[in-house]
Amino acid sequence: MHHPFPLPRLNGAALAFVFLIASFLPLGLAGAQSVAPMDRWEYAAAAMGMIALWGMAVQFVTSGRFEAVSGKLGIDKVMAFHKLAAIWIGLALLLHPLAYILPTWLDDPALGWVRLRFYLTDPSYRSGVISLLAVIVLIMTSVLRDWLPWRYEAWRGTHLLLGLSAVLCGLHHAWAVGRFSAEGALAWLWGAVALGVVGVVAVLYGWRWWLLHRNPWRLNALAKRADRMWELDIQPEQGTPDLSYHAGQFVWMTEGTRRFPLFDHPFSIADSPKQDGIRLLIKEAGDFTSQIGTLPEGRRIGLDGPYGEFTAEAHPADALLLIGGGVGIAPILGIVRDMVARKDTRPLRLAYAVGQPQNFACLDELRAATRTLDLKLWLISEARSDIPDILQGRLTQERVSQMLQGLDPDTTRALICGPGPMVASVSDMLLGLGLPMQNVIYERFDYAAGARSRQDRARTRNILGIGAALLAGVAAFALNM
Ligand SMILES: Cc1cc2nc3c(=O)[nH]c(=O)nc-3n(C[C@H](O)[C@H](O)[C@H](O)COP(=O)(O)OP(=O)(O)OC[C@H]3O[C@@H](n4cnc5c(N)ncnc54)[C@H](O)[C@@H]3O)c2cc1C
Repeated sequence: MHHPFPLPRLNGAALAFVFLIASFLPLGLAGAQSVAPMDRWEYAAAAMGMIALWGMAVQFVTSGRFEAVSGKLGIDKVMAFHKLAAIWIGLALLLHPLAYILPTWLDDPALGWVRLRFYLTDPSYRSGVISLLAVIVLIMTSVLRDWLPWRYEAWRGTHLLLGLSAVLCGLHHAWAVGRFSAEGALAWLWGAVALGVVGVVAVLYGWRWWLLHRNPWRLNALAKRADRMWELDIQPEQGTPDLSYHAGQFVWMTEGTRRFPLFDHPFSIADSPKQDGIRLLIKEAGDFTSQIGTLPEGRRIGLDGPYGEFTAEAHPADALLLIGGGVGIAPILGIVRDMVARKDTRPLRLAYAVGQPQNFACLDELRAATRTLDLKLWLISEARSDIPDILQGRLTQERVSQMLQGLDPDTTRALICGPGPMVASVSDMLLGLGLPMQNVIYERFDYAAGARSRQDRARTRNILGIGAALLAGVAAFALNM
Protein backbone atom coordinates (compact mmCIF):
# COMPACT_ATOMS: atom_id res chain seq x y z
CA MET A 1 0.00 0.00 0.00
CA HIS A 2 1.57 3.30 -1.01
CA HIS A 3 1.37 6.17 1.38
CA PRO A 4 -0.94 8.67 -0.28
CA PHE A 5 0.75 11.70 1.25
CA PRO A 6 4.46 10.99 1.65
CA LEU A 7 5.81 13.01 4.58
CA PRO A 8 9.42 13.78 5.43
CA ARG A 9 10.93 11.52 8.08
CA LEU A 10 12.53 13.53 10.87
CA ASN A 11 15.63 12.51 12.81
CA GLY A 12 15.82 12.48 16.60
CA ALA A 13 17.28 15.96 17.08
CA ALA A 14 14.77 17.54 14.67
CA LEU A 15 11.88 15.77 16.37
CA ALA A 16 13.07 16.83 19.84
CA PHE A 17 13.37 20.42 18.60
CA VAL A 18 9.89 20.44 17.06
CA PHE A 19 8.47 18.80 20.19
CA LEU A 20 10.04 21.36 22.54
CA ILE A 21 9.05 24.38 20.45
CA ALA A 22 5.50 23.05 20.17
CA SER A 23 5.39 22.32 23.91
CA PHE A 24 6.42 25.88 24.72
CA LEU A 25 3.88 27.38 22.33
CA PRO A 26 1.00 27.23 24.87
CA LEU A 27 3.28 28.81 27.50
CA GLY A 28 4.23 31.58 25.07
CA LEU A 29 0.58 32.29 24.25
CA ALA A 30 -0.33 32.18 27.94
CA GLY A 31 2.50 34.59 28.75
CA ALA A 32 1.08 37.10 26.28
CA GLN A 33 -2.28 37.14 28.07
CA SER A 34 -3.21 39.31 31.03
CA VAL A 35 -4.83 37.42 33.88
CA ALA A 36 -5.39 38.28 37.54
CA PRO A 37 -2.03 37.98 39.34
CA MET A 38 -1.30 34.62 40.93
CA ASP A 39 1.29 33.07 43.18
CA ARG A 40 4.40 31.66 41.39
CA TRP A 41 3.35 28.13 42.35
CA GLU A 42 0.02 28.73 40.68
CA TYR A 43 1.75 29.83 37.50
CA ALA A 44 3.89 26.68 37.69
CA ALA A 45 0.72 24.62 38.21
CA ALA A 46 -0.89 26.18 35.14
CA ALA A 47 2.26 25.60 33.07
CA MET A 48 2.40 21.93 34.12
CA GLY A 49 -1.23 21.47 33.16
CA MET A 50 -0.65 23.02 29.74
CA ILE A 51 2.51 21.03 29.04
CA ALA A 52 0.85 17.79 30.18
CA LEU A 53 -2.13 18.49 27.94
CA TRP A 54 0.10 19.08 24.97
CA GLY A 55 2.12 15.95 25.85
CA MET A 56 -1.05 13.84 25.96
CA ALA A 57 -1.98 14.94 22.46
CA VAL A 58 1.54 14.19 21.16
CA GLN A 59 1.29 10.62 22.53
CA PHE A 60 -1.19 9.90 19.75
CA VAL A 61 1.53 10.25 17.13
CA THR A 62 4.30 8.54 19.13
CA SER A 63 2.42 5.25 19.13
CA GLY A 64 4.63 4.04 16.27
CA ARG A 65 2.04 4.29 13.50
CA PHE A 66 3.24 7.48 11.82
CA GLU A 67 6.24 7.20 9.56
CA ALA A 68 6.97 10.95 9.73
CA VAL A 69 7.62 10.40 13.43
CA SER A 70 9.00 6.87 13.66
CA GLY A 71 10.28 6.27 10.13
CA LYS A 72 13.76 7.62 10.69
CA LEU A 73 14.16 6.90 14.38
CA GLY A 74 12.77 3.40 14.41
CA ILE A 75 9.91 2.08 16.44
CA ASP A 76 12.15 1.10 19.37
CA LYS A 77 13.23 4.68 20.10
CA VAL A 78 9.78 6.10 19.54
CA MET A 79 8.29 3.56 21.95
CA ALA A 80 10.96 4.43 24.52
CA PHE A 81 9.85 8.07 24.26
CA HIS A 82 6.16 7.13 24.40
CA LYS A 83 6.65 5.20 27.64
CA LEU A 84 8.82 7.77 29.41
CA ALA A 85 6.69 10.71 28.29
CA ALA A 86 3.64 8.95 29.78
CA ILE A 87 5.34 9.01 33.18
CA TRP A 88 6.11 12.76 32.92
CA ILE A 89 2.55 13.47 31.87
CA GLY A 90 1.24 11.52 34.84
CA LEU A 91 3.59 13.33 37.23
CA ALA A 92 2.81 16.77 35.80
CA LEU A 93 -0.92 16.07 36.07
CA LEU A 94 -0.58 14.92 39.69
CA LEU A 95 1.46 18.00 40.56
CA HIS A 96 -0.92 20.32 38.68
CA PRO A 97 -3.64 20.52 41.43
CA LEU A 98 -1.07 20.15 44.21
CA ALA A 99 0.96 23.15 43.07
CA TYR A 100 -2.23 25.26 42.99
CA ILE A 101 -2.92 24.57 46.64
CA LEU A 102 0.69 24.65 47.82
CA PRO A 103 0.77 28.36 48.79
CA THR A 104 -2.49 27.98 50.76
CA TRP A 105 -1.30 24.74 52.31
CA LEU A 106 1.97 26.35 53.45
CA ASP A 107 0.00 29.18 55.15
CA ASP A 108 -2.71 26.99 56.61
CA PRO A 109 -2.55 23.22 56.01
CA ALA A 110 -6.21 22.69 56.99
CA LEU A 111 -7.37 25.23 54.41
CA GLY A 112 -5.03 23.64 51.85
CA TRP A 113 -6.80 20.27 52.31
CA VAL A 114 -10.18 21.96 51.96
CA ARG A 115 -9.10 23.50 48.66
CA LEU A 116 -7.72 20.18 47.39
CA ARG A 117 -10.97 18.41 48.31
CA PHE A 118 -12.86 21.16 46.49
CA TYR A 119 -10.77 20.69 43.33
CA LEU A 120 -11.28 16.95 43.42
CA THR A 121 -15.04 16.99 44.08
CA ASP A 122 -16.52 20.21 42.67
CA PRO A 123 -18.45 19.50 39.43
CA SER A 124 -16.71 22.33 37.56
CA TYR A 125 -13.39 20.46 37.92
CA ARG A 126 -14.83 17.03 37.10
CA SER A 127 -13.45 16.76 33.56
CA GLY A 128 -9.97 17.51 34.92
CA VAL A 129 -10.29 14.79 37.56
CA ILE A 130 -11.51 12.29 34.94
CA SER A 131 -8.53 13.19 32.75
CA LEU A 132 -6.13 12.62 35.66
CA LEU A 133 -7.75 9.29 36.58
CA ALA A 134 -7.71 8.14 32.95
CA VAL A 135 -3.98 8.84 32.74
CA ILE A 136 -3.30 6.97 35.99
CA VAL A 137 -5.29 3.92 34.81
CA LEU A 138 -3.62 4.18 31.40
CA ILE A 139 -0.15 4.06 32.89
CA MET A 140 -1.00 1.28 35.35
CA THR A 141 -2.65 -0.95 32.75
CA SER A 142 0.38 -0.46 30.50
CA VAL A 143 2.98 -1.21 33.15
CA LEU A 144 1.00 -4.26 34.27
CA ARG A 145 -0.06 -5.32 30.77
CA ASP A 146 1.70 -8.66 30.79
CA TRP A 147 0.04 -9.58 34.09
CA LEU A 148 -3.49 -8.56 33.10
CA PRO A 149 -5.79 -11.40 32.01
CA TRP A 150 -6.77 -9.46 28.85
CA ARG A 151 -6.31 -10.21 25.22
CA TYR A 152 -3.89 -7.83 23.53
CA GLU A 153 -6.74 -6.37 21.44
CA ALA A 154 -8.79 -5.61 24.57
CA TRP A 155 -5.80 -3.85 26.10
CA ARG A 156 -5.22 -1.89 22.91
CA GLY A 157 -8.87 -0.80 22.61
CA THR A 158 -8.88 0.24 26.28
CA HIS A 159 -5.60 2.09 25.80
CA LEU A 160 -7.07 4.08 22.93
CA LEU A 161 -10.31 4.90 24.76
CA LEU A 162 -8.48 5.92 27.94
CA GLY A 163 -6.10 8.08 25.91
CA LEU A 164 -8.96 9.78 24.10
CA SER A 165 -10.87 10.33 27.36
CA ALA A 166 -7.76 11.76 29.01
CA VAL A 167 -7.00 14.28 26.29
CA LEU A 168 -10.59 15.31 25.49
CA CYS A 169 -11.53 15.72 29.18
CA GLY A 170 -8.24 17.58 29.71
CA LEU A 171 -9.10 19.96 26.88
CA HIS A 172 -12.58 20.48 28.28
CA HIS A 173 -11.05 21.23 31.68
CA ALA A 174 -8.69 23.80 30.13
CA TRP A 175 -11.53 25.54 28.30
CA ALA A 176 -13.88 25.36 31.30
CA VAL A 177 -11.66 26.48 34.17
CA GLY A 178 -8.22 27.25 32.71
CA ARG A 179 -7.04 30.72 33.63
CA PHE A 180 -5.18 31.15 30.35
CA SER A 181 -7.04 28.69 28.14
CA ALA A 182 -10.66 29.77 28.45
CA GLU A 183 -10.41 32.33 25.66
CA GLY A 184 -8.07 34.03 23.21
CA ALA A 185 -5.34 32.41 21.11
CA LEU A 186 -4.78 29.59 23.57
CA ALA A 187 -8.42 28.50 23.43
CA TRP A 188 -8.05 28.32 19.63
CA LEU A 189 -4.81 26.38 19.96
CA TRP A 190 -6.55 23.78 22.15
CA GLY A 191 -9.29 23.64 19.54
CA ALA A 192 -6.68 22.82 16.91
CA VAL A 193 -5.18 20.18 19.23
CA ALA A 194 -8.63 18.59 19.68
CA LEU A 195 -9.11 18.49 15.91
CA GLY A 196 -5.61 17.06 15.50
CA VAL A 197 -6.24 14.23 17.96
CA VAL A 198 -9.60 13.37 16.43
CA GLY A 199 -7.95 13.56 12.98
CA VAL A 200 -5.18 11.15 14.01
CA VAL A 201 -7.71 8.64 15.34
CA ALA A 202 -9.80 9.06 12.18
CA VAL A 203 -6.72 8.34 10.02
CA LEU A 204 -5.69 5.33 12.10
CA TYR A 205 -9.09 3.72 12.49
CA GLY A 206 -11.10 5.20 9.62
CA TRP A 207 -8.88 5.94 6.65
CA ARG A 208 -6.61 2.93 7.23
CA TRP A 209 -9.61 0.67 7.80
CA TRP A 210 -10.99 1.79 4.48
CA LEU A 211 -7.63 1.16 2.79
CA LEU A 212 -7.47 -2.35 4.27
CA HIS A 213 -10.79 -3.07 2.56
CA ARG A 214 -10.16 -1.21 -0.66
CA ASN A 215 -6.74 -2.80 -1.24
CA PRO A 216 -7.05 -6.43 -0.15
CA TRP A 217 -4.27 -9.02 -0.41
CA ARG A 218 -4.60 -12.79 -0.50
CA LEU A 219 -2.75 -15.68 1.08
CA ASN A 220 -1.17 -17.35 -1.92
CA ALA A 221 0.74 -20.12 -0.13
CA LEU A 222 1.55 -21.26 3.38
CA ALA A 223 4.55 -23.42 4.29
CA LYS A 224 5.92 -24.73 7.57
CA ARG A 225 9.53 -23.57 7.93
CA ALA A 226 10.41 -24.68 11.47
CA ASP A 227 8.80 -25.82 14.70
CA ARG A 228 5.62 -23.69 15.06
CA MET A 229 6.90 -21.29 12.40
CA TRP A 230 5.13 -20.53 9.14
CA GLU A 231 6.02 -18.74 5.97
CA LEU A 232 3.18 -16.89 4.26
CA ASP A 233 3.34 -15.86 0.65
CA ILE A 234 0.93 -12.95 0.27
CA GLN A 235 -0.01 -11.47 -3.10
CA PRO A 236 -2.01 -8.36 -3.98
CA GLU A 237 -5.55 -8.90 -5.26
CA GLN A 238 -6.33 -7.38 -8.62
CA GLY A 239 -6.28 -3.59 -8.37
CA THR A 240 -4.26 -3.52 -5.14
CA PRO A 241 -0.94 -1.71 -5.68
CA ASP A 242 2.17 -3.73 -4.82
CA LEU A 243 3.99 -2.65 -1.67
CA SER A 244 6.97 -0.39 -2.18
CA TYR A 245 9.34 -1.12 0.71
CA HIS A 246 12.93 -1.78 1.71
CA ALA A 247 13.98 -5.24 2.87
CA GLY A 248 13.81 -5.40 6.69
CA GLN A 249 10.75 -3.15 7.10
CA PHE A 250 7.55 -4.46 8.63
CA VAL A 251 3.80 -4.38 7.99
CA TRP A 252 0.72 -4.46 10.21
CA MET A 253 -1.36 -7.45 9.19
CA THR A 254 -4.99 -8.49 9.61
CA GLU A 255 -6.89 -11.33 8.02
CA GLY A 256 -10.36 -12.46 6.96
CA THR A 257 -13.25 -10.32 8.02
CA ARG A 258 -11.31 -8.86 10.95
CA ARG A 259 -9.50 -6.40 8.71
CA PHE A 260 -9.82 -3.55 11.19
CA PRO A 261 -6.72 -1.74 12.51
CA LEU A 262 -7.51 -2.64 16.13
CA PHE A 263 -6.84 -6.30 15.29
CA ASP A 264 -3.63 -5.88 13.33
CA HIS A 265 -0.24 -7.32 14.31
CA PRO A 266 3.23 -6.25 13.23
CA PHE A 267 5.35 -8.65 11.15
CA SER A 268 8.65 -8.08 9.40
CA ILE A 269 8.78 -8.61 5.67
CA ALA A 270 11.03 -11.61 5.09
CA ASP A 271 11.39 -10.84 1.42
CA SER A 272 13.09 -8.79 -1.27
CA PRO A 273 11.20 -5.92 -2.94
CA LYS A 274 12.44 -7.43 -6.21
CA GLN A 275 9.91 -10.26 -5.75
CA ASP A 276 6.18 -9.92 -6.35
CA GLY A 277 4.07 -9.69 -3.22
CA ILE A 278 5.64 -10.31 0.18
CA ARG A 279 6.59 -13.22 2.40
CA LEU A 280 6.24 -13.20 6.18
CA LEU A 281 7.79 -15.62 8.66
CA ILE A 282 5.49 -16.01 11.63
CA LYS A 283 6.14 -17.84 14.89
CA GLU A 284 3.22 -19.10 16.97
CA ALA A 285 3.18 -16.93 20.09
CA GLY A 286 -0.47 -16.39 21.13
CA ASP A 287 -4.07 -16.14 19.91
CA PHE A 288 -3.45 -14.56 16.53
CA THR A 289 -0.24 -16.27 15.51
CA SER A 290 -1.35 -19.74 16.70
CA GLN A 291 -4.07 -19.93 14.05
CA ILE A 292 -1.80 -18.79 11.21
CA GLY A 293 -0.95 -22.40 10.26
CA THR A 294 -4.67 -23.17 9.73
CA LEU A 295 -5.43 -20.27 7.37
CA PRO A 296 -6.81 -21.49 4.03
CA GLU A 297 -5.07 -20.46 0.84
CA GLY A 298 -6.93 -17.60 -0.80
CA ARG A 299 -7.81 -16.02 2.56
CA ARG A 300 -8.13 -12.23 2.37
CA ILE A 301 -5.30 -10.40 4.09
CA GLY A 302 -5.08 -6.74 5.09
CA LEU A 303 -1.63 -5.10 5.03
CA ASP A 304 -0.72 -1.65 6.28
CA GLY A 305 2.81 -0.52 5.68
CA PRO A 306 5.67 -0.46 5.21
CA TYR A 307 7.05 0.78 8.53
CA GLY A 308 10.41 0.91 10.25
CA GLU A 309 14.04 1.62 9.45
CA PHE A 310 15.60 -1.78 10.12
CA THR A 311 17.06 -1.76 6.62
CA ALA A 312 20.40 -1.64 4.85
CA GLU A 313 19.18 1.41 2.90
CA ALA A 314 18.56 3.48 6.03
CA HIS A 315 22.05 2.63 7.34
CA PRO A 316 24.62 2.85 4.55
CA ALA A 317 27.71 0.75 5.28
CA ASP A 318 30.66 -0.99 3.63
CA ALA A 319 29.89 -4.23 5.46
CA LEU A 320 26.95 -5.62 7.42
CA LEU A 321 26.70 -7.79 10.49
CA LEU A 322 23.28 -9.39 10.63
CA ILE A 323 22.28 -11.00 13.90
CA GLY A 324 18.99 -12.81 14.36
CA GLY A 325 17.66 -14.66 17.38
CA GLY A 326 14.71 -17.04 16.95
CA VAL A 327 12.01 -15.55 14.74
CA GLY A 328 14.09 -12.35 14.76
CA ILE A 329 15.62 -13.92 11.65
CA ALA A 330 12.55 -12.73 9.68
CA PRO A 331 13.73 -9.20 8.69
CA ILE A 332 17.30 -10.49 8.34
CA LEU A 333 16.18 -13.18 5.93
CA GLY A 334 14.46 -10.39 4.00
CA ILE A 335 17.74 -8.46 3.80
CA VAL A 336 19.69 -11.56 2.71
CA ARG A 337 17.07 -12.43 0.08
CA ASP A 338 17.30 -8.88 -1.21
CA MET A 339 21.10 -8.97 -1.36
CA VAL A 340 20.90 -12.22 -3.33
CA ALA A 341 18.32 -10.67 -5.68
CA ARG A 342 20.47 -7.56 -6.15
CA LYS A 343 23.77 -9.50 -6.26
CA ASP A 344 25.18 -7.22 -3.56
CA THR A 345 28.88 -7.94 -3.12
CA ARG A 346 29.47 -6.27 0.24
CA PRO A 347 30.86 -8.42 3.06
CA LEU A 348 28.01 -9.89 5.04
CA ARG A 349 28.42 -11.73 8.37
CA LEU A 350 25.33 -13.44 9.70
CA ALA A 351 24.75 -15.04 13.11
CA TYR A 352 21.52 -16.96 13.64
CA ALA A 353 20.93 -18.13 17.20
CA VAL A 354 18.09 -20.34 18.43
CA GLY A 355 17.22 -22.39 21.52
CA GLN A 356 16.58 -25.73 19.80
CA PRO A 357 17.92 -26.88 16.41
CA GLN A 358 14.36 -27.54 15.18
CA ASN A 359 13.73 -23.77 15.50
CA PHE A 360 16.06 -22.94 12.60
CA ALA A 361 14.16 -21.75 9.52
CA CYS A 362 15.32 -21.62 5.90
CA LEU A 363 18.83 -22.96 6.65
CA ASP A 364 19.31 -24.44 3.20
CA GLU A 365 18.49 -21.10 1.62
CA LEU A 366 20.98 -19.30 3.90
CA ARG A 367 23.67 -21.89 3.16
CA ALA A 368 23.02 -21.49 -0.56
CA ALA A 369 23.42 -17.72 -0.21
CA THR A 370 26.99 -18.22 1.06
CA ARG A 371 27.83 -19.46 -2.43
CA THR A 372 26.58 -16.36 -4.26
CA LEU A 373 27.34 -13.62 -1.71
CA ASP A 374 30.38 -12.66 0.37
CA LEU A 375 28.47 -14.20 3.30
CA LYS A 376 29.80 -16.04 6.34
CA LEU A 377 27.33 -17.86 8.57
CA TRP A 378 27.35 -18.64 12.28
CA LEU A 379 24.49 -21.02 13.14
CA ILE A 380 24.20 -21.36 16.89
CA SER A 381 21.84 -23.50 18.94
CA GLU A 382 21.70 -23.62 22.74
CA ALA A 383 20.70 -27.30 22.58
CA ARG A 384 23.17 -29.71 20.97
CA SER A 385 22.76 -30.72 17.35
CA ASP A 386 24.46 -33.40 15.25
CA ILE A 387 24.49 -31.20 12.16
CA PRO A 388 28.14 -30.31 11.53
CA ASP A 389 27.79 -26.58 10.78
CA ILE A 390 25.70 -25.87 13.90
CA LEU A 391 27.65 -24.51 16.85
CA GLN A 392 26.44 -25.18 20.37
CA GLY A 393 25.80 -22.47 22.99
CA ARG A 394 25.06 -18.82 22.66
CA LEU A 395 26.33 -15.83 20.76
CA THR A 396 29.30 -14.99 22.96
CA GLN A 397 31.64 -12.02 22.86
CA GLU A 398 34.27 -14.30 21.30
CA ARG A 399 31.94 -15.30 18.46
CA VAL A 400 30.88 -11.72 17.86
CA SER A 401 34.52 -10.64 17.69
CA GLN A 402 35.17 -13.45 15.14
CA MET A 403 32.37 -12.04 13.04
CA LEU A 404 34.04 -8.64 13.03
CA GLN A 405 37.43 -9.93 11.94
CA GLY A 406 38.76 -8.17 8.85
CA LEU A 407 36.01 -5.51 8.96
CA ASP A 408 36.43 -1.84 9.79
CA PRO A 409 34.17 -1.05 12.81
CA ASP A 410 33.66 2.53 11.60
CA THR A 411 32.11 1.50 8.30
CA THR A 412 30.41 -1.71 9.44
CA ARG A 413 26.82 -1.60 10.62
CA ALA A 414 25.18 -4.25 12.75
CA LEU A 415 21.46 -5.01 12.47
CA ILE A 416 20.18 -7.10 15.38
CA CYS A 417 16.71 -8.55 15.84
CA GLY A 418 15.65 -11.06 18.44
CA PRO A 419 14.53 -11.53 22.04
CA GLY A 420 15.08 -8.49 24.30
CA PRO A 421 17.91 -9.90 26.46
CA MET A 422 19.85 -11.13 23.43
CA VAL A 423 19.47 -7.82 21.59
CA ALA A 424 20.69 -5.89 24.65
CA SER A 425 23.68 -8.12 25.32
CA VAL A 426 24.84 -8.33 21.68
CA SER A 427 24.45 -4.57 21.28
CA ASP A 428 26.70 -4.02 24.32
CA MET A 429 29.26 -6.54 23.04
CA LEU A 430 29.48 -4.70 19.72
CA LEU A 431 30.00 -1.36 21.44
CA GLY A 432 32.69 -3.03 23.55
CA LEU A 433 34.36 -4.24 20.35
CA GLY A 434 34.59 -0.69 19.02
CA LEU A 435 31.49 -0.21 16.88
CA PRO A 436 30.19 3.36 17.25
CA MET A 437 26.72 3.50 18.78
CA GLN A 438 25.04 4.78 15.62
CA ASN A 439 26.36 1.68 13.80
CA VAL A 440 24.42 -0.70 16.05
CA ILE A 441 20.78 -0.86 15.03
CA TYR A 442 18.19 -3.13 16.56
CA GLU A 443 14.54 -3.90 16.55
CA ARG A 444 12.65 -5.74 19.24
CA PHE A 445 9.50 -7.74 18.60
CA ASP A 446 8.07 -6.90 21.99
CA TYR A 447 7.47 -3.44 23.46
CA ALA A 448 7.36 -4.76 27.02
CA ALA A 449 10.07 -3.56 29.39
CA GLY A 450 13.03 -5.87 29.74
CA ALA A 451 16.78 -6.05 29.47
CA ARG A 452 18.31 -2.70 28.65
CA SER A 453 21.45 -2.09 26.66
CA ARG A 454 23.96 0.75 26.92
CA GLN A 455 22.25 2.24 23.90
CA ASP A 456 18.86 2.05 25.68
CA ARG A 457 20.34 3.87 28.64
CA ALA A 458 21.79 6.56 26.36
CA ARG A 459 18.34 6.97 24.79
CA THR A 460 16.78 7.29 28.23
CA ARG A 461 19.27 10.02 29.08
CA ASN A 462 18.39 11.91 25.87
CA ILE A 463 14.70 11.62 26.61
CA LEU A 464 15.27 12.74 30.21
CA GLY A 465 17.11 15.74 28.75
CA ILE A 466 13.92 16.68 26.89
CA GLY A 467 12.03 16.31 30.19
CA ALA A 468 14.53 18.58 31.93
CA ALA A 469 14.07 21.20 29.19
CA LEU A 470 10.30 21.06 29.75
CA LEU A 471 10.80 21.51 33.49
CA ALA A 472 13.06 24.49 32.82
CA GLY A 473 10.29 25.93 30.63
CA VAL A 474 7.77 25.55 33.48
CA ALA A 475 10.19 27.23 35.91
CA ALA A 476 10.92 30.09 33.48
CA PHE A 477 7.19 30.64 32.96
CA ALA A 478 6.51 30.72 36.72
CA LEU A 479 9.41 33.07 37.45
CA ASN A 480 8.80 35.52 34.60
CA MET A 481 5.07 35.99 34.92
C1 LIG B 1 8.29 -4.38 14.67
C2 LIG B 1 7.85 -5.81 14.96
C3 LIG B 1 8.08 -6.81 14.01
C4 LIG B 1 7.68 -8.12 14.26
N1 LIG B 1 7.96 -9.08 13.33
C5 LIG B 1 7.60 -10.38 13.56
C6 LIG B 1 7.86 -11.40 12.60
O1 LIG B 1 8.41 -11.17 11.53
N2 LIG B 1 7.49 -12.67 12.90
C7 LIG B 1 6.87 -12.99 14.08
O2 LIG B 1 6.53 -14.16 14.29
N3 LIG B 1 6.61 -12.03 15.01
C8 LIG B 1 6.95 -10.74 14.78
N4 LIG B 1 6.66 -9.78 15.71
C9 LIG B 1 5.96 -10.17 16.94
C10 LIG B 1 4.48 -10.37 16.65
O3 LIG B 1 3.89 -9.12 16.29
C11 LIG B 1 3.76 -10.91 17.89
O4 LIG B 1 4.31 -12.17 18.18
C12 LIG B 1 2.29 -11.09 17.62
O5 LIG B 1 1.66 -9.84 17.43
C13 LIG B 1 1.68 -11.85 18.79
O6 LIG B 1 0.27 -11.85 18.69
P1 LIG B 1 -0.58 -13.05 19.32
O7 LIG B 1 -2.01 -12.64 19.38
O8 LIG B 1 -0.32 -14.32 18.59
O9 LIG B 1 0.02 -13.27 20.75
P2 LIG B 1 -0.32 -12.57 22.11
O10 LIG B 1 -0.27 -13.62 23.16
O11 LIG B 1 -1.54 -11.73 21.96
O12 LIG B 1 0.91 -11.59 22.25
C14 LIG B 1 2.19 -11.97 22.60
C15 LIG B 1 2.99 -10.68 22.74
O13 LIG B 1 3.12 -10.08 21.44
C16 LIG B 1 2.92 -8.67 21.51
N5 LIG B 1 1.77 -8.31 20.69
C17 LIG B 1 0.60 -8.95 20.57
N6 LIG B 1 -0.22 -8.33 19.74
C18 LIG B 1 0.42 -7.23 19.32
C19 LIG B 1 0.08 -6.17 18.46
N7 LIG B 1 -1.11 -6.11 17.86
N8 LIG B 1 0.98 -5.18 18.28
C20 LIG B 1 2.17 -5.23 18.89
N9 LIG B 1 2.57 -6.21 19.71
C21 LIG B 1 1.70 -7.21 19.92
C22 LIG B 1 2.69 -8.35 22.95
O14 LIG B 1 3.91 -7.96 23.51
C23 LIG B 1 2.26 -9.64 23.57
O15 LIG B 1 2.64 -9.71 24.92
C24 LIG B 1 7.04 -8.45 15.48
C25 LIG B 1 6.79 -7.46 16.40
C26 LIG B 1 7.18 -6.15 16.17
C27 LIG B 1 6.90 -5.09 17.18
